[in-house]
Amino acid sequence: MSLPSLQGELPEGIAARLGLEKTYRGLQIFEGLHRLGKDFAGMTSLPEELRSRLQRDYSPFTTRPGTSLSDPDGTVKLRVDLADGAAVECVLLTDQSGRRTACLSTQAGCAMGCAFCRTGLLGFHRNLDAAEIVEQYHHLDRAHGPIGNIVYMGMGEPLMNLENLRRSIEIFIHPRGMALSLRKMTVSTCGVAPGIVELADRGPPVGIAVSLITADEETRKKIMPVTRRWGLAELREAMAYHQKKTGKRLTLEIVLLKGLNDRPADVRRLLDFVRGLDVIVNLIPWNSVSELDFREPDEETVQMYRRELESARIPSTRRYRRGRKIGGACGQLGVVV
Ligand code: SAH
Ligand code: SF4
Repeated sequence: MSLPSLQGELPEGIAARLGLEKTYRGLQIFEGLHRLGKDFAGMTSLPEELRSRLQRDYSPFTTRPGTSLSDPDGTVKLRVDLADGAAVECVLLTDQSGRRTACLSTQAGCAMGCAFCRTGLLGFHRNLDAAEIVEQYHHLDRAHGPIGNIVYMGMGEPLMNLENLRRSIEIFIHPRGMALSLRKMTVSTCGVAPGIVELADRGPPVGIAVSLITADEETRKKIMPVTRRWGLAELREAMAYHQKKTGKRLTLEIVLLKGLNDRPADVRRLLDFVRGLDVIVNLIPWNSVSELDFREPDEETVQMYRRELESARIPSTRRYRRGRKIGGACGQLGVVV
């Protein structure tokens, strides 16, 4: 049996788990773990007795960094081994200006079954706990230096693991820990409408990206089974609610699939869908997954899409395709567990 870690607890949670009367000890341990990167032996401000108890009953990490692959474009994909023998992947992205972003997983596998995604092919194994989410960041950070940005766009559907997602964000932004800025975090969802509403109500007020893919309900039902549960009208309502509550611009992710959602009529439907919302559209040409039968869009189609959005004054970006050589780009994650 491996020992648990305290990486998934806020300071008050650490104090409670250890039954500490002096709650500031929880804060000291939290600070040692997340800000100072210390192991328990190095937490010299703690009484000797508490330090040895921590060393006996807890491990600094419950997960272990596994194989790491580097793409010539600078992207790194890291396998993280979980205590139960399962594994997930996370990715470190570095852009031209040297800004680093960690792309984290929230589940081992995924139950949502989107037809174009490799993680979807795996099926669902289990939710990650908050420690397993936070530790991915620390493993990347320890190996590659400080990381300022986080996207929850790795394996799994974050809003189907809402409590652990929320806790991990609270840990990342805690002023006495990593003190990351909420503005530098994005949670991506395939469209779990009630999860969007709950996140808006209970916080943290983090920005969300919705993998809309298409605003055509019938096509979306076919390739994204989530649509059969929460249709486009309900999804749009949840997005509008999130925007009203948080004041944040919404990101819409459109994975371009040749012949399926890349025609002028598809752009028009998208424009109808976003009317009244403040959005930025992120165009992502499909990254190929050998087992799946989709095709990448032509370059001209991507340009057409961008032009149409521009003339409707909808800002858009095109996601640069990092990590494709190591199977670390969007939708390619899928360590076999
Ligand atoms: N489950 C969440 C977050 C993880 S997926 C979600 O679906 O949003 C991260 C992003 O990768 C999503 O926008 C998804 O639509 C996209 N994606 C999935 N498969 C892809 C592929 N083969 N090529 C490009 N993007 C893909
Ligand atoms: Fe799951 Fe997101 Fe992949 Fe859909 S796109 S199967 S929700 S990881």
